[in-house]
Amino acid sequence: MRNVYCIGELLIDFVAEKQGNNLSKAHEFTKKAGGAPANVACAIAKLGGKSKFVGCVGNDPFGDFLLNVLKENDVDISFAQRSKTFTTLAFVSLAEDGERDFVFSRGADKKLAYDSSLRNDFKDSIVHLGAATALLGGDLEKAYGRYFFDALTQDAFISFDPNFRGDLWRDEEEAFVKKCMLFVEKSHLCKFSLEEAQLLSGKSDLYEASDFLHEIGAKIITITLGGDGTFVSTAEIKETVPSILVKPIDTTGAGDAFIGCLLQQIANLQNPNEIVENTSLLIKMVKNANKAGALTTTNYGAIPSLPSRDAVFDSSEPHL
Ligand code: ATP
Repeated sequence: MRNVYCIGELLIDFVAEKQGNNLSKAHEFTKKAGGAPANVACAIAKLGGKSKFVGCVGNDPFGDFLLNVLKENDVDISFAQRSKTFTTLAFVSLAEDGERDFVFSRGADKKLAYDSSLRNDFKDSIVHLGAATALLGGDLEKAYGRYFFDALTQDAFISFDPNFRGDLWRDEEEAFVKKCMLFVEKSHLCKFSLEEAQLLSGKSDLYEASDFLHEIGAKIITITLGGDGTFVSTAEIKETVPSILVKPIDTTGAGDAFIGCLLQQIANLQNPNEIVENTSLLIKMVKNANKAGALTTTNYGAIPSLPSRDAVFDSSEPHL
């Protein structure tokens, strides 16, 4: 089983207590661990995979809390970094349909430094780049670029999720798209939401959007469609893989559970690159990943809702 390095932010989500509250009206918040790459690391570990988190939290009680959550979920935190800068906070409200509204107060996530000792470890590994904040400039963007370069030169299997957040990139979408293109060009697997696929390609139709993104270089494209499942596109197929029927109460982390489950399965392959051409195996893996995403919506919070291996994989089949 290969290691999966998840690089990016780990932060506190302060979630407005009452559903339907918007942030201007909310007055009670619950502290939860969040950050897409950290969620992905937990999703992988909870499914029995080996994930390693690379990111930075503050040298403060919130940072202690966050690293403990990762540790409790069996994520390797030996490459996590601490900073004098306070831990990054996000304030989140949930609408009636389970969708979210965010405000960020950025701190230690910006301080992630490049760690050259990881370079050799990337060989024969999977590297997942999915920080919502990584392309905003500063030290984090520089470190991200160097980790990406190391992943490329070490021939790691690279997974990219742009994790577009409207409030972070308001009026600067064009710059965001430009910065994402290098990752799209070189990644083996790209995970987009519908909004991201349309934003990055400038096309509203899924077929046209995926064609455009393949031309940039993306090998496997997955476009997550909530309750409608996932659109999968490679050089050989374009297919919407249905999800399972659930009653969602909080969609936080569904996309992270999805990509985490997909990566956990790819990490079990003798040669991860095989998945680029093995269409039937890819579809089978996406079905499992859809299930992981769907199950995550049936509870509150991302990490506590991530499913176990037994909940996702059919015991009558050999585990992927
Ligand atoms: P995020 O908002 O966490 O970045 P996302 O928008 O990429 O994530 P979704 O499309 O909401 O993620 O969900 C990821 C996957 O989880 C979907 O492709 C689908 O397979 C599954 N899923 C999500 N919501 C539902 C639902 N209501 N019913 C069934 N499956 C769902």
